[in-house]
Amino acid sequence: MAMNNSKLILILGELNDQGLTSSTAELLSIGRTLAESTGKSLSIALLGSMAQAFAKQAIAYGADFVYVLPNSLLDSFQIDLSLSAFHQLSEKLRPNIILIAKTLGGRDLAPRLAARLEVGLIQDCIRIELDPSTEMVIGHRPVFGGNVMAAVMSTKFPQIITLRPKAYTPLEPDDSRQGTIEEFHPSIDASLIKTRIIESIREENDEVSLEDAKVVVAGGRGLGDAASFKEIQRLAKLLGGAPGASRAAVDAGWVPHIWQIGLTGKTISPNLYITVAISGASQHMAGCYGAKVIVAINKDSNAPIFKDAQYGVVGDWQNVLPAFIDTIHELTN
Ligand code: FAD
Repeated sequence: MAMNNSKLILILGELNDQGLTSSTAELLSIGRTLAESTGKSLSIALLGSMAQAFAKQAIAYGADFVYVLPNSLLDSFQIDLSLSAFHQLSEKLRPNIILIAKTLGGRDLAPRLAARLEVGLIQDCIRIELDPSTEMVIGHRPVFGGNVMAAVMSTKFPQIITLRPKAYTPLEPDDSRQGTIEEFHPSIDASLIKTRIIESIREENDEVSLEDAKVVVAGGRGLGDAASFKEIQRLAKLLGGAPGASRAAVDAGWVPHIWQIGLTGKTISPNLYITVAISGASQHMAGCYGAKVIVAINKDSNAPIFKDAQYGVVGDWQNVLPAFIDTIHELTN
């Protein structure tokens, strides 16, 4: 294995209108832990014309160096341009570790970057740690539908890791933290673009975002039809939370895909997760391992969900849910 003595960890940052995305703040948190334990410095790349405005925020969340790539061509995530720009920065800095969030953009960019750098990719991790003797990253990721955890290491540098959102908690921002902000101007132009977005259609969801909700109420195939999801929505709203669903309910066309929780859906980490008529298949549970308390309503006392749930009601949801909703209504009004 070739050695890389680089003292640098590099994060691909992502921004929205308010600043760093929550998954970027999460990467800064685990990046800070790795930096502290290896004596490395933590750098982050911020792309686009808003990058400069949010550079200090990145320092407050844990970065030592912020590389601002202020080219307006990088404002919307266009894969060919973002990849080329970040690749050029990686070549300049030669980091030992690159951390990328497993977001839509991140999972598009990470394998392409690994191919360009001719290295492996430790992808889809829910936890990473350092091997104490070699200081190499060990990435832990669910495989076989979440039934087995694999520990994965890279044999080349840089070690590129993608992490699932919600795997780590962001640090409290500290505005007194000191760091360095530098501009980097990659050579990119519009001729690099190989694909063009013809139209973007935003899926409407006026509820609390599933990933950020403190309470999630989700329904499964046992609800029987789309109309019954009104009860799920009612309970979620009453508790100030977000509604969700199993893949079976989404596949049946009862609710949109943005509601899906699990391996091929969203990862949630609420304080309270109420499941209604969901069996608790491993692929579903792969999306809610971060839930602090799970309450299950299911008519089958042998349903696997009861192995993960701290509280359970064995019964038909049509009998249990109305009384439950009425009680919560009384308690909250
Ligand atoms: P079922 O398994 O059919 O369970 C319905 C449950 O409702 C049963 O436990 C039943 O006892 C209960 N029930 C029925 N009627 C009532 C009633 N009246 N009152 C109370 N309880 C009742 N699944 C996901 O959810 N998310 C994913 O991201 C996902 N990704 C997948 C990826 C792959 C590669 C594969 C192969 C599968 C994936 N799945 C995923 C599918 C997963 O394996 C299950 O099939 C799915 O989660 C089942 O959904 P369910 O629990 O709603 O339905």
